[in-house]
Amino acid sequence: MPAEPMTAAVCIGVLKEGAPGERRVAAVPETVSRLRSSGHEVMVERGAGAGSGIPDSAYAESGAVVADPREIDERADLLLCVEAPEHARVAGLRSGQTLAGMLRPDPDLFEVCAGRGLTAVSLLLLPRTLSRAQALDALTSQANIAGYRAAVLAAATYERFFPMLTTAAGTSQPARVLVLGAGVAGLSAIGTARRLGALVTGYDIRPEAADEVRSMGARFLDLDPGADAPSAAASGGYARSLSERERDAQQAALQQRIREFDVIITTAQVPGRRPPVLVTRDALKAMRSGSVAVDLAAGPLGGNVEGSVPGRTVVLEGGITVIGAGDLASSMAAAASGAYARNIAALVGVLVRDGALAIDLDDEIQDAIVAVHRGAVRHAGARHETAGGAR
Ligand code: NAD
Repeated sequence: MPAEPMTAAVCIGVLKEGAPGERRVAAVPETVSRLRSSGHEVMVERGAGAGSGIPDSAYAESGAVVADPREIDERADLLLCVEAPEHARVAGLRSGQTLAGMLRPDPDLFEVCAGRGLTAVSLLLLPRTLSRAQALDALTSQANIAGYRAAVLAAATYERFFPMLTTAAGTSQPARVLVLGAGVAGLSAIGTARRLGALVTGYDIRPEAADEVRSMGARFLDLDPGADAPSAAASGGYARSLSERERDAQQAALQQRIREFDVIITTAQVPGRRPPVLVTRDALKAMRSGSVAVDLAAGPLGGNVEGSVPGRTVVLEGGITVIGAGDLASSMAAAASGAYARNIAALVGVLVRDGALAIDLDDEIQDAIVAVHRGAVRHAGARHETAGGAR
């Protein structure tokens, strides 16, 4: 099917994020200039860059029109965001507009978009293993930042040195750091903790992760699932959800080993599911006083560390600090916005043909990321497991 031109010229609107704690923005002056030089009109919502240290004047200098939300919602053909705006705002948009960002595959959001005749594009649905998709891969750009930040945060919280240091006052032993989940964020945390001089061990349920961990100069924690254990690898490089028996066995095996470490950084996720609990309360209790756990999976559905609270630092009775850090990329907003804005600019390049917004559903990437097309829901969306669901 040929590409379908939707409009003659693209007016791009950059939204100010509304979610609590979200400091990122979908365009930075550098990408605004790039979009302008491709002939697009760019409107940036007043204050959109404040959380990333970008004043409105910097957007204006790069060629954007700084505008109020109402003007943007009325005029823009393509609305760019990090997270979806509130449903009420989406419900006020007009038919034919396209909303693009890291939209969660939320059936309610997609219904609202469809009801308004919108097109909704989510980079969370990107087929990441396609090499053509790499420039658009916001999950990877943001996970890299979160992993780096997790290691730095752990080092700043841990009240001893990460490296071995020999001074006239004696020699400090290097911190022993365990990173659970060796995907993008985990490998980034491993690399950063190594550069800070710690002794790093990585672990993942996918067997192929062992070589990646070792190639970063870290040890791999071998929990020996048994020769006849089924592989935990699922499609697209992701892990599958474990059975209850496998989960219990994994928790018990990890519990024996966690006490050997001073710092734990957890990053384990299973798409569309609650994150698995890898560090139980008992495992935390067995750690030495002064130990630190940073839970990158902490969110409304739970986390990898039992009792971690999203956005909060909790010091347990035994002197163990647990940091619920599900939004770490946003806490490094200047870098995260820069990287995300480049992903989004690459997305605009994919969605625009001959100077006009054109969605081509025959294209493998667009077929995957276009969740709602001209009022029709194409991606059913996933209702995540609820608090009462299986772990
Ligand atoms: P993710 O955020 O979904 O999960 C993080 C890690 O947690 C994964 O490595 C996963 O295996 C692990 N995990 C899940 N359950 C676990 C458990 N019970 N115990 C221990 N570990 C567990 O994953 P991600 O970081 O987004 O990356 C997923 C995969 O996709 C990786 O293999 C990554 O290399 C691959 N990837 C490939 C490309 C590419 O080809 N260009 C791009 C991005 C990611």
